[in-house]
Amino acid sequence: MTSPRATPFRIALSAAISLTPATLLGQNTGPHPYRPGIDVVDYAITLDLPDRGGAIDGRAVLAVRRSAPVDTLVLDLVGLRVDSVLVDNRAVAFARSDSVIRIPIGRVVGDSFSVDVRYSGSPKDGLIIRTDSTGRWTAFGDNWPNRARNWIPSIDHPSDKATVTWTVRAPSERRVVANGELVEETPLPIRPGSASRTLTRWREDRPIPPYLMVIAAAQLVYFDLGRDGCGAGEFSSCVRQSVYVFPESRDFLPGPFVHSTEILRLFSELVAPFPYEKLAHLQSSTRYGGMENAGAIFYSDAGFRRRTMGPGVIAHETAHQWFGDAVTEREWSHVWLSEGFATYFSELWVERFSGDSAFRADMGRLREQIVKAPEVASRPVIDTAQTDLMALLNTNSYQKGGWTLHMLRALVGDSAFFRGIRSYYLANRHSTALTDDLRRAVEGSSGRSLGWFFDQWLRRPGYAEVTTSWRYDAAQRRIVATIGQGARFGAYRFPLTVAVTDASGRERRATIDVPATSSATLVVPLDVDGAPRTVTFDPDVRVLGTFQAR
Ligand SMILES: [Zn+2]
Repeated sequence: MTSPRATPFRIALSAAISLTPATLLGQNTGPHPYRPGIDVVDYAITLDLPDRGGAIDGRAVLAVRRSAPVDTLVLDLVGLRVDSVLVDNRAVAFARSDSVIRIPIGRVVGDSFSVDVRYSGSPKDGLIIRTDSTGRWTAFGDNWPNRARNWIPSIDHPSDKATVTWTVRAPSERRVVANGELVEETPLPIRPGSASRTLTRWREDRPIPPYLMVIAAAQLVYFDLGRDGCGAGEFSSCVRQSVYVFPESRDFLPGPFVHSTEILRLFSELVAPFPYEKLAHLQSSTRYGGMENAGAIFYSDAGFRRRTMGPGVIAHETAHQWFGDAVTEREWSHVWLSEGFATYFSELWVERFSGDSAFRADMGRLREQIVKAPEVASRPVIDTAQTDLMALLNTNSYQKGGWTLHMLRALVGDSAFFRGIRSYYLANRHSTALTDDLRRAVEGSSGRSLGWFFDQWLRRPGYAEVTTSWRYDAAQRRIVATIGQGARFGAYRFPLTVAVTDASGRERRATIDVPATSSATLVVPLDVDGAPRTVTFDPDVRVLGTFQAR
């Protein structure tokens, strides 16, 4: 996700916030499974949308697998009325609270069964139903982090991914867009006295977490971006991309979406083929600047209305299709595996298409944001103590997570870094992962032990506070550097590039390995004839820290 201003970090649109702390607390952020022994493998969700007003009729048929002796299935569903529950087509006596449905499923281990929930009412959140200023009725799903439960009976946690079929009956003037592939759009028999209605069905054939399961239903105009991403898709060789906007935004297109093909191609080349059936981009009413719903990215409508939307948010949300969507963080505390990756991969797009100096400038800007952020100084990136999920959308998850990947790349080199990223992705694609899965993959590609690296950058607050000095040793024709580190966050271990410019103006570079000590005196491995004109530490912006010459 991104903020409304399309900076690399997501904050909520303040006007739209209606958090319910009670549902945020009690979320699993620790190492324990959310609903142990239960795995939903498929959702078939049927929704009847109204001509006006916010009341929906829903039916969700869940295919469930059980791997432990659990006798009650607990589904998340906030607020709505539950009309009936069937287990394997037999009505059962369920218990309803305001936030869950408790469904008796007998005491069996290792079986599969179906659960059929019929429900109705006006969702208070999750499916955002609005009438805009021109009187048009719109509905957009907006689930992150755990708001799917306001309109989908679900195991509403990123650890439980499932395929999903959407069947939506709505007035024909609205276009319905969802995850996956369009299966059918069929006009329904006209009922006397009511407007014509259409049944639209979409099928997502890859498992995704509930926070990415969405529909849009609005008077949207379709803009085809073509099938240029050929050779870049997991489903079909060519990936179809499109944009759906409100009619008055039509003349903005393609706008920043002229870059969508090169963005998708870059990530498919760096990582793996695009993981979903198609990629649609939608003007929507998400509270975020952009929300990476699988195969159907929802953007805030402000960027379209004001014509301010740029390619950065598209690159960020597109990168999420691989990281966050196809490989999903199994625990909320590891959300940097989603946001840090999207942050860094959108910078890799900058590096590729705007060049090294633009990339370096961006990484420098992100570093300035990190050293200024109070949460970076007080909490680690992997923040298992944080129970407010919205608070995880911070500089730690985005900028510092992205910077950790940047430093990992500097440490092991481009070849081992990208091989490691690819093997991490392929091993966990359409499944879930934790930070140790990434560590093991890059240890495998680099042949290095990396526990210390992940611990110091992700499990400790802060960054390096570095002081530097150097002297020229004329007798040995070398430069000796003294690297000090502040006590506030402890000392870090990192490779440090040193750029040396001699009297004639020629620049050469070398790398010294700075140990995790408060002070180290290190020889720069260069033969230097005569006192250098300048010595610059970290010229390529590869170390997360502050640098002060002493
Ligand atoms: Zn994001």
